[in-house]
Amino acid sequence: MPKLEPERSLWLEPLVEDPFGHRISYLRVSVTDRCNERCRYCMPEEEQAWFAKDETLSYDELLRTVRVGATLGIKKVRVTGGEPLTRPGVAGFCADLAQIPGIEDIGISTNGTLLAKLEDGVTMAERLVKAGVRTANISLDSLDREIYKRTTSRDLLPRVMEGIDAAIAAGFQSIKFNCVLMKGQTERELPALIDFAREKKALLRFIELMPVSTQDVLSEDNFLPIATAKKLVEQTAGELTPLPEFRTNGPAAYHLIPATGQRIGFIGAMTNLHFCENCDKLRLTCDGKLRPCLGSYLEFDLRSVMRGGCSDADLAAFFQNVVARKPKEHDFRHNYQPNRRMIAIGG
Ligand code: SAM
Ligand code: SF4
Repeated sequence: MPKLEPERSLWLEPLVEDPFGHRISYLRVSVTDRCNERCRYCMPEEEQAWFAKDETLSYDELLRTVRVGATLGIKKVRVTGGEPLTRPGVAGFCADLAQIPGIEDIGISTNGTLLAKLEDGVTMAERLVKAGVRTANISLDSLDREIYKRTTSRDLLPRVMEGIDAAIAAGFQSIKFNCVLMKGQTERELPALIDFAREKKALLRFIELMPVSTQDVLSEDNFLPIATAKKLVEQTAGELTPLPEFRTNGPAAYHLIPATGQRIGFIGAMTNLHFCENCDKLRLTCDGKLRPCLGSYLEFDLRSVMRGGCSDADLAAFFQNVVARKPKEHDFRHNYQPNRRMIAIGG
């Protein structure tokens, strides 16, 4: 891993733009590498080498990092993992995030299994909304209990359904469902997922499988490109209309189903050659590495700098150096061999 010392001299103005014109305003913050599921594209069943507690950034360390990031132009934070809702105190952490000057938008990425969990009669979803979390992205690969179980190695679809209802009742401003495209599986799931998302008034996004697991997931056998998924959707829903003007906080390209007015997102990290052009993100892993790109080997050890007693100005300089090293585009198309599991990066 390249070593990056804070360089005071590089700390000039708030740096929100890298040399390729990516304007950085979004930080994905992973709060844990632990998860109560084992999705086969993310984390194989046998892989359970969790970070020790002292290797994981404390909430105070995460908050300090976001506070410094906010002074440089970070406006949006997405709390992720692993499964972020498995870390105790996560709603309180989100409430503290919402107090940081400059942070305008907080989202959570979750598998949904714990959203309906009650504490003192209040659901986790309600706690998050009360804390100021605006959007919930919920993984949903299948509505078929057996297929869900096969994909996640856990029989938790009923709990996810409760979680989705809890999220709707709690009043998130936006709910998205994320489905990772798996050849031989998702094809027959598409119509049901589309109908379900429409009923629940959620935005559905289909995500191309990326090489971000220690498992050899990116084989011809299970890779389903977004172009094929689009064609399959059109077979049942009619021709899709591209919506280039409709953007949310991510890289999804949205299309309209004219007959129903429903919008569907396609996230084609592997086949969309323009995928990285509008990237506005950095990622902070739960063990304190700042990553300029999901699909790059680059990561920088913010934890040791912070625990070494650096000032906020040093931390800001560190951030700026990482932004300055953000690559033009990801490396996924160049025989990328992940150096970290997705679960340890934060999706
Ligand atoms: N546990 C939460 C969840 O499942 O949504 C948050 C973390 S998860 C790593 C974030 C997102 O990454 C999920 O939407 C998941 O489907 C996606 N993901 C994981 N592995 C992937 C892969 N190999 N290719 C594409 N997306 C992946
Ligand atoms: Fe857990 Fe989310 Fe990874 Fe599935 S995708 S194993 S739910 S972190």
